[in-house]
Amino acid sequence: MKAPAFDYTKPASLDEVFGLLAAHGDGARLLAGGQTLLATLNMRLSEPSMLIDLGGIAALQGISVQGDGQGQGQGQGQVLRIGALVTHSEIEASALVAQHAPLLALAAPHIAHRAIRNLGTWGGSIAYADPAAEWPACLAALEGVVVVRGANGERRIAAHDFFIDLYTTALAAGEVVTACELPLRQPADVFVFDELARRHGDYAIVGLALAARRGGGGGGGGGDGMQRVRLAFLGVGSTPLRAVRTEAALEGRALSSAVLDAAMITLAAELNPMPDLTNSAATKRHLACVLTRRALATALSM
Ligand SMILES: Cc1cc2nc3c(=O)[nH]c(=O)nc-3n(C[C@H](O)[C@H](O)[C@H](O)COP(=O)(O)OP(=O)(O)OC[C@H]3O[C@@H](n4cnc5c(N)ncnc54)[C@H](O)[C@@H]3O)c2cc1C
Repeated sequence: MKAPAFDYTKPASLDEVFGLLAAHGDGARLLAGGQTLLATLNMRLSEPSMLIDLGGIAALQGISVQGDGQGQGQGQGQVLRIGALVTHSEIEASALVAQHAPLLALAAPHIAHRAIRNLGTWGGSIAYADPAAEWPACLAALEGVVVVRGANGERRIAAHDFFIDLYTTALAAGEVVTACELPLRQPADVFVFDELARRHGDYAIVGLALAARRGGGGGGGGGDGMQRVRLAFLGVGSTPLRAVRTEAALEGRALSSAVLDAAMITLAAELNPMPDLTNSAATKRHLACVLTRRALATALSM
């Protein structure tokens, strides 16, 4: 099928974007990498009258460390800022990401295929809020912040409050995702990303972004315990899903096999996965437990 006819414009500033969004209302759509939007147009799932191409707006580009660094400890008070137009491939190749938010570098190769990663953007993925996508789950695990801007100014929204429901976010009409801010990796932090997909590049059946800080459980940084355990699943719920009860069950504990067995019982009870066309809720729950056990073992070996 072919896309319906639409007008196209490529503004050079966010103020122009806000004016266009106000003028065209529901008939307007923001275009970033086009890797989701153009497919929905071609399938006539969406028929906007005006596409507003964000590609000319320099303020949405770039990966940088920002902040005053005045807090206590290394990198406290500073964040890694990822502009909305940064592509999946740029994140994959970024030295700053590898240093400060290595979870993203681990997750990036799981997103689609190279051609799509070269065009698809961070902001497009966050705004689209597909619960099976990698970036929203990483943002949830890292407890990042989404920066949005509209004609009335800027808002910072915690990941937990941004993803509301299936493809539904806290973004208001007339607002644009401009960037996200992620805490900088601390020395004892460990990250694991894994997913189960039918073929490499397919959306995951179930995936897991794990962030934790080694220590506790008698570990003192080198032991067998974890603190600040964050388990964010993709492909399980209507949004990226944090398993907060299981996180609490693991907090500060030495990860003996008895503790892990108990945590898996908690996880199975906590998750109520949405089935998809080929996988039942029970299959997804089982796969989520398998991934979590594996990811915790990997984190402990780091
Ligand atoms: C074959 C195929 C396989 C794929 N597999 C995966 C996968 O495994 N994992 C995965 O995560 N993704 C996958 N994708 C999607 C891909 O990652 C997209 O790049 C991403 O979902 C959207 O990014 P985009 O820049 O292309 O956004 P676009 O398609 O341009 O826009 C998507 C939506 O977000 C809105 N939008 C875009 N930017 C902003 C902004 N800054 N502020 C507010 N709204 C905005 C648009 O209006 C639109 O509604 C796949 C895509 C294809 C075609």
